[in-house]
Amino acid sequence: MKISDLGEFGLIGRIQKLASKKSSSTLIGIGDDAAALKISASSTLLITTDLLLEGVHFDLSYADFFSLGWKSASVNLSDIAAMGGIPRFCLTALGIPAGVSVEQITEFYRGFNALLKSYRTTLIGGDTCSSRKGLFISVTALGEVEPKRIITRAGARPGDRIFVTGTLGDSAAGLEFLKSGVRGRGPGARGKEPKSAISNPQSAIERLIRKHLRPVPRVEWGRKLALSGCASAMIDLSDGLSSDLFHICEQSGVGSEISADRIPLSDALHKLAGKLAKPAVHYALSGGEDYELLFTAPPGKVKKLRSLKLPLTEIGLITAGTTLSLADNRGRKKPLLPTGYDHFGRRRAVK
Ligand code: ADP
Ligand code: MG
Repeated sequence: MKISDLGEFGLIGRIQKLASKKSSSTLIGIGDDAAALKISASSTLLITTDLLLEGVHFDLSYADFFSLGWKSASVNLSDIAAMGGIPRFCLTALGIPAGVSVEQITEFYRGFNALLKSYRTTLIGGDTCSSRKGLFISVTALGEVEPKRIITRAGARPGDRIFVTGTLGDSAAGLEFLKSGVRGRGPGARGKEPKSAISNPQSAIERLIRKHLRPVPRVEWGRKLALSGCASAMIDLSDGLSSDLFHICEQSGVGSEISADRIPLSDALHKLAGKLAKPAVHYALSGGEDYELLFTAPPGKVKKLRSLKLPLTEIGLITAGTTLSLADNRGRKKPLLPTGYDHFGRRRAVK
């Protein structure tokens, strides 16, 4: 059987079945944003790992090394944030092809450490190899969370409201501009950290590009949600809203209804919508790499949630059953398919 017949998530499901049974200290194993291991009565260790591959996740013609370091740290801390945790330590493993210089690797770690510093997280180890083809980056993040505060993908219940932080679709739209040759005003891969465009975006295009190259993990927001006890389920938006909502629904055994016109889009994305290949909402639903948080909250917690003063938008409702639907701006409902990123290209039908 070809892997594309199963798709990325079907393959992970198969790996999950092959894994040995969870031990009593494994609170959460395969299937959530991070694994959770009980290490004492008061603390749980969170562990997550992510790969970034040249030609798959990034292209050195538009990604500078500082941004690559920043982003590879950020996407891992985002998974810790999605569990309501506090990031503590990271390990990095690099496969480095011929042609990459010491200066570029130095830039990578400048970017990596700049991101970690904001979260008082430290690099504690890793591995370094040569690569026959392409730059290979693997990052593992470790964090902690109080056992009572963990927010999994599995806690959504019918009647819960669905929320997202920030705005969606900017990163995928930024990538489309990067691929079309727009670079903001940064010098790109061969130069130093772009001083102007990415560090201090002025134009709408630069803001979208920054969101793609330098995502910010929502660690403080995830933490506030965990401490408040308001969120029943949570995931970070790495694959695209349609797929990540699908993960929450699947793990929780529920369905959902969201409205397209409630999905928060940035002013920059609205402004540039006419220059993009697809309608703006497509980038939010199917684009991925926003690294915002998607979570659910029981109706009784919504008032408290509002008092947290986070940049939240309510986009829909968790329903009984297992179908996901999307209402258009005239209220007409159609099935919502998980059309976000799948490494093996399979689009799963809604059950
Ligand atoms: P995320 O997008 O949050 O990083 P993924 O979709 O990559 O999550 O992975 C979903 C779940 O599957 C996670 O719990 C992850 O640890 C697990 N997983 C992914 N690939 C593998 C693998 N090759 N072996 C074991 N577990 C895996
Ligand atoms: Mg995740």
